[in-house]
Amino acid sequence: MQLIDGKQTAADIKAEIAATVAKMVADGKRRPHLAAVLVGHDGGSETYVAAKVKACEECGFRSTLIRYESDVTEEELLKTVAQLNADDEIDGFIVQLPLPRHISEQAVIEAIDYRKDVDGFHPVNVGRMSIGLPCFVSATPAGIIELLRRYEIPTRGKRCVVLGRSNIVGKPVATLMMQKGYPGDATVTVCHSATENLSEITREADILIAAMGRPLSVTADMVKDGVVIIDVGTTRVPDASRKSGFRLRGDVDFDNVAPKCSFITPVPGGVGPMTIVSLMRNTLLAATHAIY
Ligand code: NAP
Repeated sequence: MQLIDGKQTAADIKAEIAATVAKMVADGKRRPHLAAVLVGHDGGSETYVAAKVKACEECGFRSTLIRYESDVTEEELLKTVAQLNADDEIDGFIVQLPLPRHISEQAVIEAIDYRKDVDGFHPVNVGRMSIGLPCFVSATPAGIIELLRRYEIPTRGKRCVVLGRSNIVGKPVATLMMQKGYPGDATVTVCHSATENLSEITREADILIAAMGRPLSVTADMVKDGVVIIDVGTTRVPDASRKSGFRLRGDVDFDNVAPKCSFITPVPGGVGPMTIVSLMRNTLLAATHAIY
């Protein structure tokens, strides 16, 4: 069994991006600039945005954080989006989700200029991804694909089972795995809460991508020997032995499943670090006008 080290891979990619940025600056170009809009004080969102700002520093990017209280109106937020769209100094921006209930997330996402949509949530980017055109791929699926690429895991003709069909993980990663070329060319099955006989399907998987948010639910009897497992799940479960009072758990019963795997990602330290680094890669793409 080989562990897929997302933390190390993410550190390698950040160093590669920083080297590219240093060269851009030496050539007289300006640094890539990412803006983040954060509404309210949700603990998870605060943590994610702080991590994104820190990653910008590590990559040599400029970053700008725009904060609003949770009573900001949709109109005000859309005005900010329009300003960021028009600002030539900003290459890409994100509006951290979730937003308060009185604001339509879809309206905000669709207001973002798709050429600055480094989260890859705009329908133009989603549509382009599904027909294989240059686009911003959303961060978590892009990170998963990059791990498969960097570990040179064969995907062509392999049976890939994706557990979960959300718009941010399950659907896009399934689309990418069935795309022509490498990593892709897999035969993909997508499972969800209405799937019957889940274990029969997972037992056929050469590559299993678990993105359900159901801790430890993929057990050893559900997988075959030699399977490659990408565990996207990250659920906070209470743990009195930790200072924080919780620990992160993946969807996979790691201790019992790992011995059967050829490759597996840990939680934490697998997909998570790759998600933020994918946002950095997208920002670099935006700064070099690779998506137009
Ligand atoms: P989500 O929107 O809640 O989607 C969960 C999916 O799992 C749904 O499609 C659901 O089916 C399916 N599902 C639930 N129970 C199931 C079951 N018993 N059998 C088969 N499918 C089942 O979650 P998400 O946003 O995709 O996130 C999934 C997990 O990944 C979460 O733990 C999240 O925290 C984690 N995550 C991690 C990262 C990272 O960077 N590491 C990034 C994003 C998400 P239905 O559609 O039928 O409801």
